[in-house]
Amino acid sequence: MPETAFHKLYARLFEVVDLNGVGFLLKWDQATYMPKGGAGARARQIALLKTLAHARLTDPAVGKLLDEAAREVQTLPPESFEASYVRVARRDFERAVRVPAGFTRAFFEHTAATYQAWIEARPANDFTRVEPLLEKTLELSRTKADFYAPYAHPADPLIAESDYGMTVATLRPLFTELREALVPLVRELAAREAPDDSFLRYPYPLEAQVAFAAARVGEFGYDFSRGRIDPTHHPFAIEFSIDDVRITTRGREDYLPEALFCTFHESGHGMYHQGLDAQLAGTPLADGTSAGVHESQSRLWENLVGRSLGFWRYAYPRLQATFPDQLGSVPVESFWRALNIVKPSLIRTRADEVTYNLHVLVRFELELELLEGRLAVRDLPDAWNAKYRDVLGVEVPNDADGVLQDVHWFSREIGGAFQGYTLGNLLSAQFFEVACETHPELLAQIERGEFHTLFRWFRENIHRHGRIYDPADLVHRVCGKGISLEPYLRYLKSKYQQVYA
Ligand code: ZN
Repeated sequence: MPETAFHKLYARLFEVVDLNGVGFLLKWDQATYMPKGGAGARARQIALLKTLAHARLTDPAVGKLLDEAAREVQTLPPESFEASYVRVARRDFERAVRVPAGFTRAFFEHTAATYQAWIEARPANDFTRVEPLLEKTLELSRTKADFYAPYAHPADPLIAESDYGMTVATLRPLFTELREALVPLVRELAAREAPDDSFLRYPYPLEAQVAFAAARVGEFGYDFSRGRIDPTHHPFAIEFSIDDVRITTRGREDYLPEALFCTFHESGHGMYHQGLDAQLAGTPLADGTSAGVHESQSRLWENLVGRSLGFWRYAYPRLQATFPDQLGSVPVESFWRALNIVKPSLIRTRADEVTYNLHVLVRFELELELLEGRLAVRDLPDAWNAKYRDVLGVEVPNDADGVLQDVHWFSREIGGAFQGYTLGNLLSAQFFEVACETHPELLAQIERGEFHTLFRWFRENIHRHGRIYDPADLVHRVCGKGISLEPYLRYLKSKYQQVYA
């Protein structure tokens, strides 16, 4: 068989995917077991791999192969492997060639320095230490957006990088409507008497917590023969190939939910990647189709399954057997209520499922104001505190628990990251509703600890496709319509009526 342009392209981009996989391995090690002393060399090595991958991808020969391969696949159905491959590879290539290699390096060096400053600034509660760096980040973020001009809003190209097809114009009305629905719901729930949750704060040996969580994610469908769990500071899932997809977690002896829900969450990301069709291995299609869809998978197992009463009817006797002294006399309903207390608070990563989105919306709105030039970096802490007062009804006592709390703005560009969290929450409920309509037995199965039908449904409808379908097309295919607020609001209202009954 003569070697086609498609085959040549395939071989070249396989190397790009492998270079990225090696870079991820270095990152995983950096965040788990690397001794502190390794930081300098490791940052340089990761930057080198990024540069190599970028250079291979943006080689003009790839552009020519893409043109030829496009002609070869033009008669194939658009959702065929080959046609999808060429379409997605073309998009990645065109995005990559617009950004000069020198910019990528300078940006990486700047964010590495900013991250180091933030590590010290946060515990010192000292925003002024990162302020000039953040000003530079904002400038570089605008510069990056300009590489993709024209655009309607400077955040649009940054959003497109992780949530392809979404723009400020599509997100703003959706998020405004969500905010208008959530603020009164949070006020109403927070005003009620909170269930007792003191038993969540007893000492729980960490090793036993993680072992319990690992056993549950194995039952969900996370494949330990192609993955593993390790401890870290900021949990994440990461893939070196389809057959080696790792998750990380963290926990606290004095707060039981942390390790449980971090692990459930990351297992959802991990199962998405482990579930990609084997044919996609080593190709640009071997990834989740968007940050929002990825997050829908983690939120599904963390919240819709992991914080449901049905799940705990199955899992709780096992947890009680693990921690008989702490939980032996606590009934399952009390335990479940304690896991689902709604209370406006300062820290996003510790927020309950309902207020969580408000934390995200605050950041999203501030990012847009910064990018539009309506908000100056020096005024950011005040703007942050004002929004927390207005949206969540809480006073921010210091910048460490305010504007300095999240790593995002201090480790990457400003814009394009936060929307995915809320899109994921919306989609998790929307997908789950369809799954339950298709399989009315699902909820009863979860109560028996049987997750196979749910797992298979996600594998079949979402995981295996990788990036073959663009996010909006995937949502339409699965749900018969576009992204919608209604399933999520229905889910929250019916669940929290029960929690606070
Ligand atoms: Zn996540």
